[in-house]
Amino acid sequence: MSVRFVINALDFVRKAGERHGKIQLADLERIQDFLHENGGDVEYRINGIVGRDNKPYLQLQIKGEMHLCCQRCLGSLVHQLEIQTSLLLVETEAELIQADEDETVDALLAIADMDVQDLIEEEIILSLAISSRHKEGECDVYDSKRYKATENSDSESPFAALKSLKKIR
Ligand SMILES: [Zn+2]
Repeated sequence: MSVRFVINALDFVRKAGERHGKIQLADLERIQDFLHENGGDVEYRINGIVGRDNKPYLQLQIKGEMHLCCQRCLGSLVHQLEIQTSLLLVETEAELIQADEDETVDALLAIADMDVQDLIEEEIILSLAISSRHKEGECDVYDSKRYKATENSDSESPFAALKSLKKIR
């Protein structure tokens, strides 16, 4: 089990806070649907900074290898997770709505008990929702070959058995 930690977002920025560590993918409940193999971990780093615009931001980096389930063929898809994002901290719902209108800004309501693991999970889900499938024509080439091979040997075996019967006669 990884240790969950909660930050007071604005306080974290004021103190120029920094945390880093690893999270087991198995601990992230909401990403299980995306996974082909439930194993491994992701590294994260979170920083509280004051931006050039003098506003508070959380900088988040998430890195790791995930084995996703391809949305087309349901086969295993190795995905290199590489997220780098800056989240503007706002203090009211109104500011959040305003910030959401600007597509270049990702805003987050600065709450006093922000669960960092939830935040990381949310960012991973957002990044995966865009595309979790093989490139065109790369869908489980290996698996489909294996499937055919099994099919062939199954259908051949009765004939093979027949041949050996003939030889005996
Ligand atoms: Zn696929």
